[in-house]
Formats: sequence, C-alpha cells, structure tokens
Amino acid sequence: MNGWADPAPRAVDGRAPDVFSTAGTVPMRQFSDRDAVDFAIVGTGCGGGVLAAKLAEAGFSVVAFDAGPFWRPLADFASDEREQDKLYWLDPRISAGDDPVEFGQNNSGRAVGGSTVHFQMVALRFRPEWFASRSRLGYGVDWPVDWRTMWRYYDEVERACAISGPVNYPWGPKRHYPYRAHEVNAAGQVLARGAEALGVPWAPTPLATVSAPRGKSPPCVYRGMCKIGCSTNAKQSVLITFIPRALDAGAEIRDLAMVGRIETEDGRATGVEYHRDGQWRFQRARNVVCAGYSIETPRLLLNSASGAHPHGLANSSGNVGRYLMVHLNDAVWGVMEDEIRWYKVPPSMACCEHWNYIDDKDFDGGYSFMSQGPLPTDFARMLVTNEGVFGDELHRQMALYNRMAGLKMVGETMPQADNRVTLADEHDDLGLPRAHVTYSCCDNDRRMRRHARDFMARMLAAAGGSELLETGSTAHLMGGCRMGNDPETSVTDSDGRTWDIPNLWVCDGSLMPTAGGVNPSMTIMANAARIADRITALAGRGEAERAHG
Ligand SMILES: Cc1cc2nc3c(=O)[nH]c(=O)nc-3n(C[C@H](O)[C@H](O)[C@H](O)COP(=O)(O)OP(=O)(O)OC[C@H]3O[C@@H](n4cnc5c(N)ncnc54)[C@H](O)[C@@H]3O)c2cc1C
Ligand code: SF4
Repeated sequence: MNGWADPAPRAVDGRAPDVFSTAGTVPMRQFSDRDAVDFAIVGTGCGGGVLAAKLAEAGFSVVAFDAGPFWRPLADFASDEREQDKLYWLDPRISAGDDPVEFGQNNSGRAVGGSTVHFQMVALRFRPEWFASRSRLGYGVDWPVDWRTMWRYYDEVERACAISGPVNYPWGPKRHYPYRAHEVNAAGQVLARGAEALGVPWAPTPLATVSAPRGKSPPCVYRGMCKIGCSTNAKQSVLITFIPRALDAGAEIRDLAMVGRIETEDGRATGVEYHRDGQWRFQRARNVVCAGYSIETPRLLLNSASGAHPHGLANSSGNVGRYLMVHLNDAVWGVMEDEIRWYKVPPSMACCEHWNYIDDKDFDGGYSFMSQGPLPTDFARMLVTNEGVFGDELHRQMALYNRMAGLKMVGETMPQADNRVTLADEHDDLGLPRAHVTYSCCDNDRRMRRHARDFMARMLAAAGGSELLETGSTAHLMGGCRMGNDPETSVTDSDGRTWDIPNLWVCDGSLMPTAGGVNPSMTIMANAARIADRITALAGRGEAERAHG
C-alpha cells in the first residue's frame, strides 16, 4: 500500500493548474507519446524543475514527469500536520546498515515542485573550498566544477527564488540577496544571544520566502506552516517559480506520472515507460534526464537493466547508487525562562556557519546549525520515536512546548562507497522493486556529531536554556549518482551526462560528490541552472541531440 489519496491528474487537455488561484488553469503545450521530444525529464524538483524551465526557454521540446500531484497551494494546503502528509514520499523503502536512515517526511517529497513544496526554505551556499575538498582540505572528493562558476549560478537561482537575506552575510565571499532579511523571532534571538556569549558570529537565515510582495506572492505572514506546505504562496518553491516559467516557455508537465523504466536501443536512450491514470505508456524522447533525487534516480537506473546493460543503466563502473550521503541533523533542546512560541514564523530564522569556516577541528568537513520551530505533532513524534518519551513525561515535556528553544545541526557526512541504494526483492503497488538503502556513519561523522552537540549545548545554556535534551537524526539526501572527471569513479561527467549513454543525463541532488555543511537545495538548483546552459551550448555545437536548431 502506498497510503496516498491522490487527486486525478490535473495537467491534462492542454491546461495545467494555475498555482496562484484556487481552481484556475493556465494553457499548457501537450505532446503525444509518439513525438520524440527533445527532453523527457523524470522529476520536477530542484533539479528537474529548474532544468525543465531553462531548457524550454532555450527552445527545446520538454515533457517533465512527476510521480506526485500538481497542487494549488491556495486551495490544497491546510494548516494541519496530518492532512499535509500528502506532500511526502511515504512509499516504503527498505532501510539497512548500522545507522539506517529514517525515511518519510524528513527527506523527500513527491509533488510537482519536488521536495521544495514542503522544504524549510533555508537558502545557503557551499563554502567555496568544498568544491575542491580533496585538494584544498584533504577529505572527500573534488567536484568537477569550479566554485566561481557555481557562484554565478547561485546568484541566478537566488534571484529566481527571491531569497530574503541579510545585507552583510558573515561567512564566505560577498553575496547580494534580492529581498531584505526577515525579522528574527524569539527562537532565533536565543541563538543570537548564545552566539554572542560564546563569541561566534550569527546571521538571520537567508530564506526562500518573500519579505515583501513579489508578483502574485504576498509577503510571509509568519504562521510557521512552511514544512507542511505554504498556503499563501509566500514560499518561493519550485512549484510557484520555475514550474510556471516552464509552462510559459512551452514545456508539458505530467503530474501523477511515475516513470518505471528507461528504454535503450543501440546504446542510446529511446524514451520512458510511465504509469499514469491506471495505464503504462511510453513517451519517446531524444534525451532522458533523471531528476528523481538520491533514492529514486538510482532506483530508476538500476530498474532499467536490460541485456545490453545487465547491471542497470549508466552503471558500467558500478557506481550507480553508491556514495549516498545524508546530513547529520542532531539537535539540542532547552527550556527558556520566557515564552518563545517557536512555531511562529519559518522554523529556522537564525543560523551559524562558524564551524564551516574553521579548519582546526578534530574532524573533517563542516556543519552549520540553526534555531528551530517544530510544529507540535512533529515535536511530540520526535520525542516518542527518537527518545522513547511516553505517558506522563511526554505530557510534561509537551506542556513546556511554548517555552522551548532548540539548535539543530546540518552536518556534512563523508562520501562512502558502501552507503548505497540497491533494489530490494520486495515490490511496490506498480510492480517496481522497492529501494533498499544501506547507511552507516564513519568515525569522522561520529566525531562531528559529538562536537556539534557539545557546542550547541554550551550555546543554549549560555543563552539561558535549562533541562537540555539532545536528539539524534539525519536529514536531506545527496549523492548516489555522483558527477566527476573520471568514468571509473563517477556516473556522469561535469555536465550530468552519463559516461555510458550519451543521451542519458542526471540532474538532481544525486549528482553531488560531497554533502557540504549546509542545506542542499540552492546548490542543486544552481547546478541544474548550470547544466541547462551547458546542454544548450552542447546542442548548439551539435554535441547533444535536439529536433531543430
Ligand atoms: C522536510 C524537508 C525540509 C527541507 N528543508 C530544506 C531547507 O530548508 N533548505 C534546503 O536547502 N533544503 C531543504 N530540504 C532538502 C531539499 O528540499 C532537497 O534537497 C531538494 O529538493 C532535492 O532536489 P532534487 O531535485 O534532487 O529532488 P526533489 O526536489 O525531491 O524532486 C524529485 C521529484 O522527483 C519525483 N520523482 C522521483 N522519482 C520519480 C519517478 N520515477 N517518476 C516520476 N517522478 C519521480 C518526486 O516525486 C519528486 O517530486 C528539505 C527537505 C525536506 C524533506
Ligand atoms: S510562515 Fe511564511 S512561508 Fe511559512 S507557511 Fe507561513 S506564509 Fe508561508
């Protein structure tokens, strides 16, 4: 059972939902399955959504598929945590290893717009040295891309998502956020007080929700429902930024269309087999792009095995599914003297990247941490499932909810070959093998976790927190189809083109060779914007397939 009560597909008959209305539609170009479109893109989140918009704007014919629904936030999103479970990828995955990853709402979404529909909008950039962490810092692996190139694309996607951030961000090279920073709430002020007490910098968190009106988006009204889908459209998700651009430029978005296999012939991809409205169909394509994120992209490539590709597509090196990474997401919580009411406003209003920019530590890599604002059910669930708190003690702790504050890390785990996605023997409702995910932390990960917990506890205590409680968790997914310069150790080249099949590409978080100590969405979007320009340039030189031009 998937447990999903989906609406019927809404992007049909040449119309797609108007995401700025409660029931309206906008025109949408529609392609026939028999038309070999220039690009069939699987997934419409940070990678696929950005790519679909930019390729359509460059004149390519594009059909982008998403397994999830095409929501209209104004009508479909309720201020109700349970109702909004519909935004998450809840189909079971088998989780194994010494530190099995908890799946569900904390790491992947399923909707047109991908995980950004329910992400927490923290919009940070990598530290420049992380793009060459092996040669500059002595750990991990270098990206096949120079940080200066990425910096230009961060600018582009931050403008597209109207990021609200401070004028002077204290870490890394200068950046200019298009919208002013939001006011820092009481939970963020706890972080600020603690940082000042310990003598480290802090900043209002750059966020993908607008601090002033933007087009049809009103400014954020600070109700704090961001993680369950913003019902006002203040949040600048891919659903309301790049997807409308893609539609305007002539892309077709196929919602509730689960791609099960990529077909190949004579060493080239020929199209995708997808399930929509109760039937399996086949869309012909000149190029296929996997943008389903770090579990579903490897799963799809592995499930597309054939006589010519017995171990899955793009997998001659055996790297598909490997080097999967998560972020350590441990937290320290404390009770404050005064009311905090941390659920008001977006969850992470203040951040600290101090340890991302200090290299003299007893572990490699970096971590940032942020103030927190979990919604009540989420917080209670975490106490029950992670900490085993029940009965009277749960009641007592939840009674303190309005006086609590917390700091939570986003910590860089190391890329390890054995942390990987494979196919399980078990099948889902469509008959597709489920993903089997193996994950174990290494010693470096454990040292980082200890360091972060100790530092955050000192900071929270310095800010006046008492009854400190530590919790362990992971968030985000990265890697699984990493890009690189060497076909022996990576799945794609620096353009996201698979080494084995010239018209098969990857464009999502699975490309990331290292995880960095910040939330990943801006890096994935910047990389997708870059790949779109590279594909356009390659096609212009006759080095990538297109129907015309
Ligand atoms: C609760 C939560 C909070 C987060 N908060 C932040 C944050 O504050 N800041 C930040 O930077 N990052 C955050 N993230 C992470 C960020 O959202 C993801 O890293 C990012 O969206 C990944 O981009 P992607 O393109 O790789 O995949 P996604 O955005 O997840 O898009 C993948 C899409 O592909 C579709 N798909 C998958 N397989 C198939 C298939 N076979 N056929 C058709 N469609 C398919 C899925 O339905 C999905 O919509 C958060 C994530 C979660 C879950
Ligand atoms: S706090 Fe702002 S971004 Fe979050 S749900 Fe409310 S209006 Fe949307």
